[in-house]
Amino acid sequence: MQVLKFGGSSVANGENINKVVDLVTQALTKDRTLIVVSALGGITDILIRAGVLAASGDESYKDKLQEVEQRHLATVKTLLPLTRQSSVLSLVKTRCNEIEDICNGVFLLGELSARTQDKIVSYGELLSSIIVAARFEAVGIANQWKDSRELISTDSRFGHAAVDFPRTNQQIRQFIDSSDTTLFIIPGFIAADTNGTTTTLGRGGSDYTAAIAAAAVDAQGLEIWTDVSGMMTADPRLVSNVKLIPHISYQEAMELSHFGAKVIYPPTIQPVMSKGIPVWIKNTFAPSDPGTVIEFSSTRNGGNGNNGGGNGSSIRGISSIGKIALLSLEGSGMVGIPGFSKRLFEALSGQAINVILITQGSSEHSICVGVDEINASAAKTAVDGAFSAEIGAGKVEPLIIETGLSIIALVGDQMKSHPGVSGKMFGALGRNGVNVRAIAQGSSERNISAVVAAGDVKKAINVLHEEFFETTYRQLNLFVTGTGNVGSRLLDQLWQQQHYLQEQLRIQVRVIGIANSRKMVFDNEGIDLWQWKEKLDDGQPMDLDEWVRGITSRNLRNTIFADVTANGDVASIYASLLQKSISVVACNKIACSSPYESYRRLKNLAREYNARFLFETNVGAGLPVISTLNDLLRSGDKVRRIEAVLSGTLNFVFNNYTGERPFADVVRQAQEEGYTEPDPRLDLSGTDVMRKIMILAREAGEKMEMADIENHSFMPAACMQGSVEDFYKEMGKEEEHFKQLCQAATAKGKKLKFVAQYDKGKASVGLQHIDPEQDLYHLYGKDNVVLFFTDRYSEQPLVIKGAGAGSEVTASGVFADIIRTAQS
Ligand code: ADP
Ligand code: ASP
Ligand code: MG
Repeated sequence: MQVLKFGGSSVANGENINKVVDLVTQALTKDRTLIVVSALGGITDILIRAGVLAASGDESYKDKLQEVEQRHLATVKTLLPLTRQSSVLSLVKTRCNEIEDICNGVFLLGELSARTQDKIVSYGELLSSIIVAARFEAVGIANQWKDSRELISTDSRFGHAAVDFPRTNQQIRQFIDSSDTTLFIIPGFIAADTNGTTTTLGRGGSDYTAAIAAAAVDAQGLEIWTDVSGMMTADPRLVSNVKLIPHISYQEAMELSHFGAKVIYPPTIQPVMSKGIPVWIKNTFAPSDPGTVIEFSSTRNGGNGNNGGGNGSSIRGISSIGKIALLSLEGSGMVGIPGFSKRLFEALSGQAINVILITQGSSEHSICVGVDEINASAAKTAVDGAFSAEIGAGKVEPLIIETGLSIIALVGDQMKSHPGVSGKMFGALGRNGVNVRAIAQGSSERNISAVVAAGDVKKAINVLHEEFFETTYRQLNLFVTGTGNVGSRLLDQLWQQQHYLQEQLRIQVRVIGIANSRKMVFDNEGIDLWQWKEKLDDGQPMDLDEWVRGITSRNLRNTIFADVTANGDVASIYASLLQKSISVVACNKIACSSPYESYRRLKNLAREYNARFLFETNVGAGLPVISTLNDLLRSGDKVRRIEAVLSGTLNFVFNNYTGERPFADVVRQAQEEGYTEPDPRLDLSGTDVMRKIMILAREAGEKMEMADIENHSFMPAACMQGSVEDFYKEMGKEEEHFKQLCQAATAKGKKLKFVAQYDKGKASVGLQHIDPEQDLYHLYGKDNVVLFFTDRYSEQPLVIKGAGAGSEVTASGVFADIIRTAQS
């Protein structure tokens, strides 16, 4: 004997029922078969809704019932030849009239008891199983249909009845033995109490019906046919890269389903496990997919328990339950007094409140339990009542209730022999800013559960799935602010490098949002980078608050905010992003050159919230200046002195200015070639260089402000007023001044360089005459050079030299920082 169960989607309509008939026909070639069917997909929900509407005096329950009738009539018409239709159609109509009569009663009374609800929903499975049986008859497969209410006996806990196994087993055996047919068909989910009143086994209970039947007849196997190709490493509706679990133990399957893996109803496992009956989970719509087998040991192929995700993970799957309330009982009166928790649990069980999770601190000051949110207020009344004396005496606080929570759980038999699972779990959650409210580990060590905010569930599950199952690649979710020279080069580079990143570095960068000063656009699946300009043009008007909301509300894992603007307002939002564990990559220098306290605060926030704050391109564009400095410090070196040419613009200008072409023209060329800041006066005045040397000094540990830096500016004051155009005009008038600067140097065989220095805690910037022996002399085009004199590099400095300006190299520096966040 074998038992096959077909879920709601498998029998949702005539077309699907035909697939079921094919599958069963195949199965019959192997063994006698009992099939259990659910209601047509969605019907149970509609029936419940109709009852609720009727009870609330809303006549639209009739529309719902109409819908129920139409679905069934249509199914009969597609499945049965005309000659066979009429008897089944009239049966469907009779049953539907009965439902309507009951609902009319509910409407008149304005009351819907659990008992009446069970009666109403029972029609879903009754109708579906009758229709399926008629279809088998129609294709010439004899079968015996039976009302499960005559087979499965329960108590009278309507909505969630408990099975009387001795009686049930006997009834089922008798039924099977009484017939020599090869195919039996019964409705799932429904049963009856000792008075013969209809009960149900809980939502999703058809799986349970099938397991009860399989155990009763000692079936050689139970097959659960559904709409997924087996049990997956996580809920496929929440995670896109789920993997099949080919084998899983009964305990693991039970644990996963208890914690929300809806693919199997949790009580289903118990009866089949007690008989050692293997359970297959198969896809009606892809029957040749291998599916999952649930049996005693999950380790049969390979023997190391690592066949879950096929990647050596010691966990088998991840699941979650929503709508959880956390109840905390706290107080000094609890310490050391036995019986406190007993009284708490008695108070809860007195109200039939199911406890899903328990944690107690070793200080015994508090005990915390997770329950279904709908039970929260009943729990509060019961517990506060039970502890009224202690609460009155101030020894215990009234029960604290938090709602809006969910539980996420990692499940695996092998967890106990693999230390470090919880460290990895909470590390990954922490890096992604998922705040964990409570933690519990079952004594079986088969499960670690954490209570998190409901809004964090999707992110948390994806983070954990990536951490434990996706050795293939890591996904970064990027938001790019700014599409000027650097921003657009960055987007192009990201596009060009997509495949390399995925194949070589196993990193997938998805650009979820792009914004500039005019427009912003989001795409949760990642913007197509080959047409980002068009997408952005079609976007909504830019609004910085909306942009930030769009980033934070998406709550994606591994989120990175890239600031490729030079805008102060954009820099002012870093703190709020870091506080949400969003990494910030900035080529914008404003934040790091703001007052020391705010620079420090951002660095601290990044550490506190496990995010990265990276700004390599603030100094020397794409040159690895800051990362090298950090590497030196991390390895214990100390920076004594820095000497540098840090302005690509000024270097370009002094390399190209010989006195022949006007100075203003050379500056304009630097701007046109994209080396200058958007406002070139920041470069010419030396301010940009001051910022850079200050950032280096700060990174080296110096608490430095802009006001602490000496600036020996070479620019006449008149040039620095008014607009950028005024600036060019004034520079034109000062040509003689620039000529003299140049000639004074060349007369001595020297070159002009705008040099930044940091020495003994002091910093200065200014034009210097450099002679050919100096490191700074041989510097061409827009190059930068940085000389680090450290404890280890005391005689000969560590020199970093190369192109220090330009959108291409700057973009690649930002790119490198983005990738660096993934490698933390
Ligand atoms: P049926 O109607 O066949 O009983 P259900 O809807 O009850 O089907 O269960 C199947 C659904 O369970 C899948 O469509 C899937 O969305 C969900 N599900 C949740 N967690 C998992 C998981 N770990 N593996 C597979 N499916 C899961
Ligand atoms: N039809 C019932 C439900 O939707 C039982 C089941 O499908 O398993 O809950
Ligand atoms: Mg189900």
